Amino acid sequence: TTGVTKRFGGLVAVNDVSLEVEEGEIRGLIGPNGSGKTTFINMLSGIYSPSEGQVIFRGSSISGLKPYAVTARGIARTFQTIRLFPQLTVLENVKVARHCRTASGLLRCIVPNQLTKQEERKTEEKALAMLDLVGLLDEKDNLAKNLAHGQRRLLEIARAMASDPAFLLLDEPGAGMNPSEKDSLVDLIQRINAMDVTVFLIEHDMKVVMPLVDRVTVFNFGKKIAEGTPDEVREDEKVIEAYLGRRDINAQG
Ligand code: ADP
Ligand code: MG
Repeated sequence: TTGVTKRFGGLVAVNDVSLEVEEGEIRGLIGPNGSGKTTFINMLSGIYSPSEGQVIFRGSSISGLKPYAVTARGIARTFQTIRLFPQLTVLENVKVARHCRTASGLLRCIVPNQLTKQEERKTEEKALAMLDLVGLLDEKDNLAKNLAHGQRRLLEIARAMASDPAFLLLDEPGAGMNPSEKDSLVDLIQRINAMDVTVFLIEHDMKVVMPLVDRVTVFNFGKKIAEGTPDEVREDEKVIEAYLGRRDINAQG
């Protein structure tokens, strides 16, 4: 992003943020509640268009593109507040994400030809593979609403991954998870990164963030106040002061 700003009326939620993520890295984004992290991801994924500044992905501007167009370019995300289709099965929730990678329209779904049948088979295969990736294969026929909280977060990751992203945005994926679920989450994000997916991770728990990320960016009041390796950021006085109030960042790390 270059000089990205988002205003809601008089409130400046994200203020002139320039930030570069390198292909292949795992980047963390931390900062106190209300510091603009989710708003920033919303601009990267097309939910909001920036009030000012540009979002550039692989050399071209994607500012103002609709979310489905951003997904088609190779950016996928999960939500801080889980957004699944509760009445669909686990498998169906993931298959939905293939919409941006398939060509068959309504008519072909009613009167399928060879191509449609082939696409449907591929959609199913891909969805099953992504459920396997996150460890939810056994739940495939269960309704999404019946999953435990931590499993719902994993299902969102499976759905995002099913769209074949090059860049995955995770908004507090560990929120509400227990310690052992968080350990598997760290392992999962590493496996995803090893599949050539660049990861941008908002997460409060330093035990999740610090071992995982190559670099971490810190927001406070909508501004970027620090950026560097976990060790560099941990030592940064501005961060220690801003983040969760004083020393907690090191206490948790
Ligand atoms: P974070 O994810 O870091 O906790 P958010 O990006 O959710 O922070 O919020 C940043 C600020 O912007 C907060 O003050 C929040 O109340 C405000 N905000 C976020 N979305 C909206 C919106 N759609 N309308 C008005 N204010 C918003
Ligand atoms: Mg948030």
